[in-house]
Amino acid sequence: METLTIIGTGPAGLTAALYAARANLAPLVLAGNLPGGQLTQTTEVENYPGFPEGILGFDLMEACTKQAERFGARLQNAIVAAVAFTPGGPQKLTLGDGTVIESRAVIIATGARPRWLGLDSENALRNKGVSSCATCDGAFFRDVPIVVVGGGDSALEEALFLTRFGSKVLVVHRREELRASKVMAQRARENPKLEFIWNAVVEEVLDVAQDKVTGVRLRDLKTGARSQIDCGALFVAIGHLPNTDVFAGQIAMEDGYIVLPDGGRSQTNVEGVFAAGDCADHVYRQAITAAGMGCRAAIDAERWLTRQGS
Ligand code: NAP
Repeated sequence: METLTIIGTGPAGLTAALYAARANLAPLVLAGNLPGGQLTQTTEVENYPGFPEGILGFDLMEACTKQAERFGARLQNAIVAAVAFTPGGPQKLTLGDGTVIESRAVIIATGARPRWLGLDSENALRNKGVSSCATCDGAFFRDVPIVVVGGGDSALEEALFLTRFGSKVLVVHRREELRASKVMAQRARENPKLEFIWNAVVEEVLDVAQDKVTGVRLRDLKTGARSQIDCGALFVAIGHLPNTDVFAGQIAMEDGYIVLPDGGRSQTNVEGVFAAGDCADHVYRQAITAAGMGCRAAIDAERWLTRQGS
């Protein structure tokens, strides 16, 4: 029987692992689909306190992993395929390979994943010019026009990064007001390789017949007019969805986000199951807030376990 199992290795999971390890709980930490979490898919992180010059997302998560391991966290590359939660525990986790883990307490820190437009052509051309990760795929598209969809910080961050490679970068946004922070918006507006197309949506990605991206078909939401833009890649940056499908029916959720009934605490509606980070937070969704939630979850779990006498 495990004492504490943490699901996820983004900032929330690894911070929970660090605190739990330092509380001598030797937590088992399951890395999930994307070890290190979403930060490993980004470039420079400039808003994580303590790094005045910024730090690469991958490097930050590698450092967090080492820090948690140094105090006895046990990382395992495994995906949770099913769970059976019982108030008070023990909690049962079935891994992808069929192994069943029983744990007195669980911290869910499974994060979120990119949202897609939902077009057939987008799906057909994924990894063939359609991407949600500029860091991963940007360098494949040198000296061609690149289209980015979205008006938030992610879209502009991706677009700015992509100006290093593309001949120009066109940001297609469905409104004429950006959701992104002022700093990011100003940076984007000042970049000569970046242009905005307002009040427009991508209706189709071209060209499925050629099995690569050659352009996008747009619809102007104000006039209804359709137009076509040639481009070599489409980056979709329209937000995220929580990675909580596997917990459906086992725990209280709202719009896919895990509900924390006492907002200030990490306890879910199932006693002994705690949650932290983007899987339980649709408001802040920052690395530092996820890390803070991970810290709280570890402290809550440790105190709960102590009260249970384990
Ligand atoms: P977001 O803030 O939710 O923005 C999503 C954008 O996509 C919005 O502009 C939205 O349009 C648009 N959108 C959503 N669904 C769409 C659809 N089906 N078709 C077309 N457009 C669609 O998500 P995010 O940019 O991923 O940012 C998430 C959080 O992370 C934010 O708090 C952000 O500040 C933070 N973040 C920070 C940084 C940084 O500071 N370096 C970098 C990345 C993200 P509307 O505006 O019309 O809703």
